[in-house]
Amino acid sequence: MSILISGGTVVNATGAYPADVLVEGERITALAAPGTDLARQWATNADRVVDATGRYVLPGGIDAHTHMEMPFGGTSSADTFETGTVAAAWGGTTTIIDFAVQPKGTSLLGALDTWHAKADGNCAVDYGFHMIVSDVNDQSLKEMSACIDAGVNTFKMFMAYPGVFYATDGEILRAMQRARDTGSTIMMHAENGIAIDELVAQALAAGRTEPVQHGLTRPPELEGEATSRAIALAKVTGAPLYIVHLSAAHALDAVTAARDTGQNVFAETCPQYLFLSLEDMAGPDFEGAKFVASPPLRPKEHQAALWRGLRTNDLSLVSTDHCPFCFVEQKELGRGDFSKIPNGMPGVEHRLDLLHQGVVRGEISLARWVEIASTTPARMFGLYPRKGVVAPGADADLVVYDPTATQTVSAATHHMNVDYSAYEGMRLTGRVATVLSRGRVVIDDGAYHGSPGHGTFLARGDNQYLV
Ligand SMILES: [Zn+2]
Repeated sequence: MSILISGGTVVNATGAYPADVLVEGERITALAAPGTDLARQWATNADRVVDATGRYVLPGGIDAHTHMEMPFGGTSSADTFETGTVAAAWGGTTTIIDFAVQPKGTSLLGALDTWHAKADGNCAVDYGFHMIVSDVNDQSLKEMSACIDAGVNTFKMFMAYPGVFYATDGEILRAMQRARDTGSTIMMHAENGIAIDELVAQALAAGRTEPVQHGLTRPPELEGEATSRAIALAKVTGAPLYIVHLSAAHALDAVTAARDTGQNVFAETCPQYLFLSLEDMAGPDFEGAKFVASPPLRPKEHQAALWRGLRTNDLSLVSTDHCPFCFVEQKELGRGDFSKIPNGMPGVEHRLDLLHQGVVRGEISLARWVEIASTTPARMFGLYPRKGVVAPGADADLVVYDPTATQTVSAATHHMNVDYSAYEGMRLTGRVATVLSRGRVVIDDGAYHGSPGHGTFLARGDNQYLV
């Protein structure tokens, strides 16, 4: 099966140029200047021609931070690997990296098996895993090597959630030493959970129970402090560090300072921190619960700092932290007690579109859009050049994107298995027209043409930003 994508503008992290893209089987095999004899010959011989006139042709999006069917607070995130990856495909994301969770008292490899069982045969697009290490002991530390051999070389730890995922500084130090020795990367949820839990208890004792308290009891200073502490531990141990879901200027300042010294410190932010704010958590009738995630949404003034960080590369990429809980029956678990609201927001479907607004508004360049949504995640998480670039030899994960079409985001029309949208009513410029996953057209003409089980597990290689 050969597919020619003709007449479009190829956009890579290195820039944009007109080119026709030939796909044979699962891969991109060649690019040609439009209008040449070669391109005309391809058009004649191809099994199918996709007209991309007036459109961009991008490498498929890579969302490096998702939580499909993840247990949390007595419930489970609402998207399965099937529904979540179909929604990802609709939004032009052709690879997700999800987090396998090691429950305390169990093994890392057991957790990996559990996550394989959830995903295997169910995914519409390709997927990989990170490993959440919640029980640091000799066995877990030893198992990090086996995880790396199994294609999982990124290990997430938590400075938040005491009693659940929380790791002490000593435990973090030990895991970082192993990361240094094995060439793997520690990912960090950097919030001072010990101090936060105290503030939460004080708020509840004082009768402050509404959703906005979730934000007020997790101040940005405590994200900044934890980020600085994680950076110090990484410095002492020599481990590479990746800060997940950075939300605030305080934490960004710490990351920027570390990067300025040449330390291997990286960070992602998420669309919710770029487009939403603490004000959204203050809505009436428990509506604010829709926006409860950790770290929380921040006062609006942090958004400009985050966009600047994306321009200066102190923020390397954007992931969603997609972790959907329905408003009815799931978010509602926290009525009368904000600390019982499941933490997480839906977003896997709209990352590319939301970031495109950054291009429309002049916050980032066209090439930087592709870089933070696809190319850098591919390089950071050992998938490049198989993923993250429109080039011969790469997987034919391709998005034909109409930059002038408009759309209105709504739970009534989205494909995520969740009963609300955090961006309900937002008007967006640009939308996905056609999506290929490893050479197969999965989205076209407003319809899904894929199937569960098409997506395959990706054993990932080294972080390519390390030297
Ligand atoms: Zn997360």
